[in-house]
Amino acid sequence: FFIYPLIRIHVNEESKLRAMTASLSARSQSMERAALTDGLTGMQNRRYFDDALAQYMEEFSRIERPLGIMLLDIDHFKSINDTHGHDVGDEVIKGLANTIRDYTRHHDIAARVGGEEFAVVAPNVGIAELEKMANRLRLAVSNLVFNLGDTVRLKITISVGIAIWDGEETGAKLYKRADGNLYNAKRGGRNKVCA
Ligand code: GH3
Ligand code: MG
Ligand code: MG
Repeated sequence: FFIYPLIRIHVNEESKLRAMTASLSARSQSMERAALTDGLTGMQNRRYFDDALAQYMEEFSRIERPLGIMLLDIDHFKSINDTHGHDVGDEVIKGLANTIRDYTRHHDIAARVGGEEFAVVAPNVGIAELEKMANRLRLAVSNLVFNLGDTVRLKITISVGIAIWDGEETGAKLYKRADGNLYNAKRGGRNKVCA
């Protein structure tokens, strides 16, 4: 008679606590996901990319298969922002992200690693195949037409740097080599793939 209300309070608090724990763990899971995901495109971010690359490198050091990466960057993107505004720029970034998704394979890891820069880990491809892949994507991007609002109709190009892991170098070094090739693609006139 006296205890019953106490039990009821206890049960109530138990279930409240359980609900709280559940919601906290869901929250931390979604925060973990958020920490690895880019908000604008829903793609993985640089942190995820670096971890995935390290994991692939560990895996591929055991098997005799090639592992490549590509870095790509929109050409003259600043002028799109300057001419049409940041929101249009954002739509272009999202459109490019979708095309990258369409032109990569299931086990490739595609990530947005900077403002208008993306990176892909491509396992099981040699340099010739990776170059083909990069050029297919580059061509697809150059054929995209962005119809934004009533009046804005634009096209973009990308430059791409690719590199195959030499089996020895660190992930950072491999990334740097691909970045150097991206720089060469820019310097060579843009809308190009450099290996
Ligand atoms: P390049 O051909 O040499 O790559 O020239 P660029 O103009 O693309 O290169 P730059 O790095 O100078 O410009 C990148 C611009 O991207 C500058 C910055 O304002 C813009 N940017 C970065 N993040 C975002 C974003 O999330 N949204 C939009 N709309 N713009 C962004
Ligand atoms: Mg850039
Ligand atoms: Mg750029």
